[in-house]
Amino acid sequence: MKVAIVNNGEENSVRVAKRLMELLLDEKIKIDENTPEFVISVGGDGTLLKAFHNYQHRLSEVKFLGVHTGHLGFYTDWRDFELEELVASLKENRANSVSYPILDVQIGFRDGTKSKHYLALNESTIRRGSRTLVGDVLISDELFERFRGDGLSISTPTGSTAYNKSVGGAVIHPSIKAIQLAEIASLNNRVFRTLGSPIVIGQNEWVKVALQESDDYAVMIDQLEIKAENISSVCYRIASEEIHFASYRHTHFWNRVKDAFIGDGE
Ligand code: NAP
Ligand code: MN
Repeated sequence: MKVAIVNNGEENSVRVAKRLMELLLDEKIKIDENTPEFVISVGGDGTLLKAFHNYQHRLSEVKFLGVHTGHLGFYTDWRDFELEELVASLKENRANSVSYPILDVQIGFRDGTKSKHYLALNESTIRRGSRTLVGDVLISDELFERFRGDGLSISTPTGSTAYNKSVGGAVIHPSIKAIQLAEIASLNNRVFRTLGSPIVIGQNEWVKVALQESDDYAVMIDQLEIKAENISSVCYRIASEEIHFASYRHTHFWNRVKDAFIGDGE
């Protein structure tokens, strides 16, 4: 068994990652950063996003696990004081794996530059410098609306509790294979009209945002910002790849949502 550990560089996470490595080596589990079968992130949800991008070229070979050093996260099941139990579970290798949909992003360019392809675990947003973003939203090649506003967010089910939620998107159970388009401050008045509510599309559909010519668009792919002067369109669909998590315990999704956003009400 080969394991890689990714931490977020914070003092506590570095310490926990080091302890975890010692425990793994004690059990003769190999640390292999290049071709791991398990990738353990130590930190927060943001750290798991980073781990995902480090290993996005090996998604079919890798199972992810998250240790959280702060509060309970959406991608993290283990607490930093449960490392022994985590290592014992790994060693027995009785992991069930759960798989969740991820987002396929294709950025097209105006000047004939070859389109670029990315994967997102949480979401991708399109924004424009300081002026109103104008873009035609097409669903499976049919024009749906002309959007004017600050931008658009397209998220996965596991990303629905992140940025998407802040812009009024719905929280979607990750067992649902879908992606969600949410508006960021759309202009709506007698002249300009958009649907005004988030939409959720399914497996055989795609969303394309055809952008008005401008040189100041910024496309975010999770934490990565793509800035290019000649972006003409961004196309989104559910990726053919999925992310696999090793799950040794079941944390009820709605309990996570409650824990993160509502608390116990006392
Ligand atoms: P960050 O600015 O440190 O993260 C913002 C917060 O989002 C952190 O509390 C992070 O949790 C949390 N988060 C990340 N993924 C989540 C998920 N799937 N469900 C619920 N909460 C989640 O940046 P980061 O840690 O590198 O994470 C990047 C993500 O932050 C982006 O993909 C975006 O979704 C989100 N974000 C949200 C806003 C907003 O809501 N206005 C603004 C910027 C970024 P941890 O503390 O556990 O890392
Ligand atoms: Mn973070």
